[in-house]
Amino acid sequence: MQQTISALLALQELDAEIYRLRDELRRLPEERTARRAQIDAMIARREETQRKARESRTKIKEIEDLTTIQRQRMRKVEHESTQSKTDMALLAAYQHQIRTLKRDISQAEEEGLALVSDADAVEGEAKRMQAEIEQAELVYADFAKNVERETAEAAKKLAQLEARRRERMNPQVEGETFALYERLLASRDGVALAELDSRICQQCYMEVPVNLYVRVAKGDRVVQCPSCDRIFYVRA
Ligand SMILES: [Zn+2]
Repeated sequence: MQQTISALLALQELDAEIYRLRDELRRLPEERTARRAQIDAMIARREETQRKARESRTKIKEIEDLTTIQRQRMRKVEHESTQSKTDMALLAAYQHQIRTLKRDISQAEEEGLALVSDADAVEGEAKRMQAEIEQAELVYADFAKNVERETAEAAKKLAQLEARRRERMNPQVEGETFALYERLLASRDGVALAELDSRICQQCYMEVPVNLYVRVAKGDRVVQCPSCDRIFYVRA
């Protein structure tokens, strides 16, 4: 049993690092995807803002075209009214028409001015968003480059460790104990063994009863921590 524990300890030394590297290889691309999605969402918000600004500009153009037509009509009515100085009823009708047109034009101009100031503000907002996006893209490009480099390094290191692990595998660690070890690696963040020092588990810091300590020290069978399930060993 001592031999089994020693063989597992030799594996554990590599497995803690293997576990960490695998975790890194999973985490880094995940973070890159999340950061990309964040920028894409910023781009979508900017596009929506630009769409609103374009809508305002179209509306402003419509109002301008309308007031141009109304001004032309007003000039025409003014001209016609000068031609009919003698017909008082007609003159009054023209003057009424001119007042109505003037009022409509002035209302439209007010509405147009308000829209222009809205559109200016929205366009300013879109510009600010664009600057933010460009800044975020720079940071992202840098991050993505780092991810690529770190991923390549981690993959290389992982392959080396896995090769060393295969060399360390031997018949002493086959069977049930090894299966238990592998299960614990997966469920305990890559640390399946726990040193028992002065009756304290060095992984979960639980104190164990004396008889359990004695069994571990005798080393004739596998003893697990009652609290964290890890396989106990004592330092030789
Ligand atoms: Zn424990």
